[in-house]
Amino acid sequence: PATRAATLSDRLTDAGVRFAIAGYTDLHGNLKGKMVPVSHTEQMAAGSELFTGAALDGLPQEVNEEELSAVPDLDRGVILPWRRDVAMYLSELRVGGEPFEASTRNVLARQVAAAAELGLTFNLGVETEFFVLREGTTPTDNVSDRDVLDKPCYTIPALLDNLDWVGELVDHMNELGWDVYSFDHEDAQGQFEIDFAYADGMTMADRVVLFRTMAGEVARRHGAYATFMPKPFADRSGSGAHFNMSLADVAGANLFESDDDPRGAGLSELGYHFAAGIVKHAAAICAVIAPTVNSYKRLVRQGSMSGSTWAPIFASAGNNNRTNMLRIPLGGGRVECRAVDSACNPHLAAAMLLAAGLEGVREKAELASFHTENLHAIDPSEYAERGLVVLPRTLEEAVDAFEADPLAAQVCGDALHASFIEYKRDEWASYTTAVTDWEMNRYLRFF
Ligand code: GLU
Ligand code: MG
Ligand code: MG
Repeated sequence: PATRAATLSDRLTDAGVRFAIAGYTDLHGNLKGKMVPVSHTEQMAAGSELFTGAALDGLPQEVNEEELSAVPDLDRGVILPWRRDVAMYLSELRVGGEPFEASTRNVLARQVAAAAELGLTFNLGVETEFFVLREGTTPTDNVSDRDVLDKPCYTIPALLDNLDWVGELVDHMNELGWDVYSFDHEDAQGQFEIDFAYADGMTMADRVVLFRTMAGEVARRHGAYATFMPKPFADRSGSGAHFNMSLADVAGANLFESDDDPRGAGLSELGYHFAAGIVKHAAAICAVIAPTVNSYKRLVRQGSMSGSTWAPIFASAGNNNRTNMLRIPLGGGRVECRAVDSACNPHLAAAMLLAAGLEGVREKAELASFHTENLHAIDPSEYAERGLVVLPRTLEEAVDAFEADPLAAQVCGDALHASFIEYKRDEWASYTTAVTDWEMNRYLRFF
């Protein structure tokens, strides 16, 4: 060709970009990175941006160790729709030129590769619920003064009052090619959900990270804030992030679909093996899909506190039944994990779920029980005879299970496994030694 291909910085400059981010996610799935002026994007593409691992939460790195470099995935660059002068490239963290084992994005990459070895692609759709509240006086201020219903799910007036920011966010998502297919006011005052097309697991985990950032930025521009805290209010539903999972073959055909499922749920045998693997490792998986102290205030029995929960309390699977941890939504062809919450690190959550599912596939694991009944209505005395195993009730229980389950160490690598446990035990200790408002209200003048 007579003309030379334009350089990366030329192309970005032509698109109006001034700065580029070599971005990656930390232990929590929050976006981190450095920005470079566009004139330095060639160096950035070659991994010029270095990071001290010891500066990040829960990363197994000491101050004296070699820095991490972020090597951008150039095919996955996006221009931030709300800041068009900034381009963001999610990057692979490397150390000494090799993928850094403890990077949670690399943890998922290893499981995606393990699926590929079996000729399988992991597909994922995530329904991230979140609250958008008004910045200012009290934290319970809903954006809409009409958002006052006891059962506010699907309410249109309050959705219309929120449409300035929701509509902008939906437009941004579609500009990025995410294909939003519906959005609604969810089951709690101030709570919303925007549903968009599924994708391969890595693409979807990357999108969830960017989604959380973008929702926060858009809300902020409208004088509000977004929160992905799992259970901000005891008397309102929490924020789940249901993971809808399936496996496809190399040609892209969904291998979880079946017309002759004896249980009538439309799931293939492969899908049931995958689900059985997840049920088996559910307790350990909870540490990463429900990773905060607060997560366990969402995973409670319906009726044990005011407000609907729609969240699971058992390591169970069943049909289109919202009280199961694993649900097979109407039509089949996928498995929905309902225990995941919006505060998860989506790469780590996807990696643990996929690894457990693949183990089930390799070992042809079978579900011990299949639940169509309302599990929240069952008396605890019947749990054992019905084959119901409760999920961890606290972060501490989940972290203990995560420590005890060899699959967790195998998925994370020993260093990340150990540092995750240490970080989360600190979090738990800090919580249990704090004296809360609840205790002061109850006990200070009681005796
Ligand atoms: N908000 C519920 C949860 O915490 C889920 C509601 C729904 O089924 O969409 O998981
Ligand atoms: Mg929902
Ligand atoms: Mg769902």
